[in-house]
Amino acid sequence: MILSAKYELMRKNFRNFAETEFTTEIQEKLDREGGFDEELFAKIAKNGFCGIKIPVEYGGQGGDSLAYVLMNEEFSRICPVGAIYANTPNSLGSGPLLACGNEEQKQRILPDVAAGRKHIVFALTEPGAGSDAGGTLTTADADGDDFILNGRKCFISGAPMADYAIIYAKTNRALRGSRGISMFILDMKLPGVSVGKGEMKMGINGYPTSDISMENVRVSKKDLLGPLDNGFITAMNTLNGGRLGVAAQSLGVAQGCLDEAIKYSKERKQFGKPICANQGISFMIAEMATEIEAARTLIYTTAIEKDQDAKDSFVKCAMSKYYASEMANRVAYKAVQIFGGYGYIKDYRVERLYRDVRVMSLYEGTTQVQQMVISGALLK
Ligand SMILES: Cc1cc2nc3c(=O)[nH]c(=O)nc-3n(C[C@H](O)[C@H](O)[C@H](O)COP(=O)(O)OP(=O)(O)OC[C@H]3O[C@@H](n4cnc5c(N)ncnc54)[C@H](O)[C@@H]3O)c2cc1C
Repeated sequence: MILSAKYELMRKNFRNFAETEFTTEIQEKLDREGGFDEELFAKIAKNGFCGIKIPVEYGGQGGDSLAYVLMNEEFSRICPVGAIYANTPNSLGSGPLLACGNEEQKQRILPDVAAGRKHIVFALTEPGAGSDAGGTLTTADADGDDFILNGRKCFISGAPMADYAIIYAKTNRALRGSRGISMFILDMKLPGVSVGKGEMKMGINGYPTSDISMENVRVSKKDLLGPLDNGFITAMNTLNGGRLGVAAQSLGVAQGCLDEAIKYSKERKQFGKPICANQGISFMIAEMATEIEAARTLIYTTAIEKDQDAKDSFVKCAMSKYYASEMANRVAYKAVQIFGGYGYIKDYRVERLYRDVRVMSLYEGTTQVQQMVISGALLK
């Protein structure tokens, strides 16, 4: 797909930043130590990437979904964790506020998020409510000018450094399933809020993930986000945009794997010739490249259609995530195969990319959940 000069320039800028700032040293440190790199985040924020998709009136760059996709793709091509640093404030963090925050809430929070001064995270998943997120057990009971929140969210990306979390809680227990759920802006410094210890993960180390527990936390009614009892639909709409981001991250990882595999297969000699001279290798490369290009076209067109409010864009977002994340896992597998035993050794980037990409068919809705969304729309 041919992009206009404007988007090609954006791509060039994202790529330059990623290639300059996501050094091998930083990538290895993130993976080894697992902690959040404030210095790296500050550089991302300084360049305006935390607000790429946040409107200008709230301190962001006002970019569209295609710009957001290109950023995720180019950042992930070098460093998926770097992409997540820039993605969260633009996607699941600010999404619910932009979708249904009132003016006071948006002005209070978004400029700080866009500038990287504050972190906001999205807390939907619970130990007993993963794919079935409507089964949330966290409760919020009205009490005077406040709601009192009790419950536990798990696997929350960025929780340890969060200033705010968007919390989904049951406000009407008489309503079954996903109905009767409301959204809240939780100030993470409120009494009764605690954060669990960081999970030990297979990949995307360097962006901590943990529980958020709430014990009789008093949240002011002014921090109810959107309509009472009707927050779940906003969660689902926010996830549409987020899914496009994960699709683009998957695309970037796959491209990074292909770049590495092409380079290595030309250099590595066995049986007196480069391994790429064997069709067993070169056909793998042809297959990887073709799948990547198919995903790229699907993702870019979905981004454009989403911004045009196309009727079925939520289905295309699910298709993009489903196809791209599964494709990237296949491509990463082949890249490691092409590297042979060296692909299993941490000195080689494909080893890390192979681990990092595994989560992409899991979070923000598993592959099976995307298939449910797609087939549900087709079979209704
Ligand atoms: C690193 C990481 C970061 C995360 N970050 C966040 C975050 O920031 N915020 C947040 O809210 N959540 C986050 N999550 C949670 C993530 O979104 C959930 O893990 C995911 O939605 C799946 O839920 P689950 O793990 O409970 O799996 P389950 O729902 O228990 O699913 C287990 C398996 O069963 C399958 N399955 C379930 N139901 C069906 C069905 N009806 N038909 C067919 N198959 C089905 C699933 O596809 C999966 O294969 C994160 C997870 C990870 C690992």
